[in-house]
Amino acid sequence: MMMYDVIVVGAGPAGLSAARTAAEAGLKVALIDDQTRVGGQYFRHAGVNRIGRLLTPRFGRAPYIHASLSVFDNCGVTVLSQATVLDISADRILTVAVGGSITHLRGDSVVVATGARERILPFPGWTTPGVIGAGAAQNLMKASGVIPGSRVLVMGSNPLCLLAATSLLRCGAKIVAVCAPCRPPLTLSALLRLMRRPDIFLRGLSYLLMLKLYRVQVLTDYSITNVIGHERVTGVVVRQFGQRFGSSDQRLDLDLVVVNDGLLPNIEVASRAGCELEWQSLNLVWSPKRNSSFESTVRNVYVVGDCVTPSGVENALLEGAIAASSIAAARGVADSIRLRQLSTLKRQWRRLQKFRSAVVELTLQESFDRRPLTDDTTICRCEDVSFASIMRALSHGIQDLSALKAETRVCMGRCQGRTCMHTVLALLGRAAGKEPDELRPPVPRFPLRPVKIGELINKS
Ligand SMILES: Cc1cc2nc3c(=O)[nH]c(=O)nc-3n(C[C@H](O)[C@H](O)[C@H](O)COP(=O)(O)OP(=O)(O)OC[C@H]3O[C@@H](n4cnc5c(N)ncnc54)[C@H](O)[C@@H]3O)c2cc1C
Repeated sequence: MMMYDVIVVGAGPAGLSAARTAAEAGLKVALIDDQTRVGGQYFRHAGVNRIGRLLTPRFGRAPYIHASLSVFDNCGVTVLSQATVLDISADRILTVAVGGSITHLRGDSVVVATGARERILPFPGWTTPGVIGAGAAQNLMKASGVIPGSRVLVMGSNPLCLLAATSLLRCGAKIVAVCAPCRPPLTLSALLRLMRRPDIFLRGLSYLLMLKLYRVQVLTDYSITNVIGHERVTGVVVRQFGQRFGSSDQRLDLDLVVVNDGLLPNIEVASRAGCELEWQSLNLVWSPKRNSSFESTVRNVYVVGDCVTPSGVENALLEGAIAASSIAAARGVADSIRLRQLSTLKRQWRRLQKFRSAVVELTLQESFDRRPLTDDTTICRCEDVSFASIMRALSHGIQDLSALKAETRVCMGRCQGRTCMHTVLALLGRAAGKEPDELRPPVPRFPLRPVKIGELINKS
């Protein structure tokens, strides 16, 4: 078994930053990621095609990745790409599927930086081809140079939706409308906190300004009640929340719906390592508990970036560096310059959290109860389980997830609930009269991702 001082899981901004900082401190590091290119959701596509370069101007030539890779070359960091962590034990032994076989690695410290995935609340027709997540739209444009539609409805008001809307505009698409939940008013306190990071604040304002400039129609408090089209979306019907059938209905002709209801942290690796989870009521997510050095409740297992609280690239870079510097300090390999850098990084991080708290306040996430679900609305798309089947099972008195899974096969498909579990837990909670913080997601089992039997048999 290969042994390392630090193993970093996930090569997004948080993981890259952790691996780079640990390597610069002289530690022996392995960086594991399941994708072909390092960089995660933000950097992976930077500069791979013309549209990618247009949409990532700040990091267009990906200098961060190039600089990190040259640090890795100089410091002998082991980078395992297309390598999936299938399991991790509390004593930090990782089971990894790579190159068609299974390998085991052990780290004195492990930094979990597994990122987040899109949260999409179901609505009638959400599985029709042509309905995609805002992150997926960004990835299609940045990675493949594909403009996924020409007449687009964007549903959601969080930063990723705004970003996708402006990216589509810049690529020549027409945004037919943006459906946004009612925004809380901007208070002086929120404004002051936004000014903690004027650079990000101005970027956000420029997105809003662009929507104004292109005269994009904003439908406040509207939601999709019906997607038109079978093979592919050709239109939608939207209705204002709380209105009766017909009174505020609008039919919009379009060929793409872009939707996002926030991001869900990928907590599976941390959870499997035994890290305790806590409910974050502002972000409506479960995430691993941690101390001020980002060490989880399991000793020497650190959790950073979007897999704790989805907060963007700047936050991920800071958190990776803080965790790795803390590891170096704890091992006594951090000199006085590094220790001073650590306190500067922590100060910058605290300032960013103030900014983030205002963003979260002002972009309230769409609530599950406001989505109009019909009997045939799909909830679990892997196993094709409808809203009616779940409600039928719940009406028989089912009160826990295991029983609901056995009865309906919900959350038992290829994605193992990564897409639908948050909705299923919300439905269970509503039926059982429980608050979200009473419905903890179960600890996932080995293997964390689907793997071929042949790979499991082959041990390297
Ligand atoms: C779909 C999507 C698109 C986005 N697009 C944009 C955008 O265009 N612009 C923008 O500003 N922000 C975007 N964001 C948000 C932004 O990318 C993130 O805030 C930032 O990348 C977070 O960095 P991170 O390192 O924490 O996680 P990530 O960048 O998500 O990196 C995590 C990495 O861990 C890997 N991983 C996860 N589990 C395992 C495992 N078991 N084994 C091995 N590897 C694993 C993942 O494949 C990924 O490469 C997007 C987010 C998502 C979810």
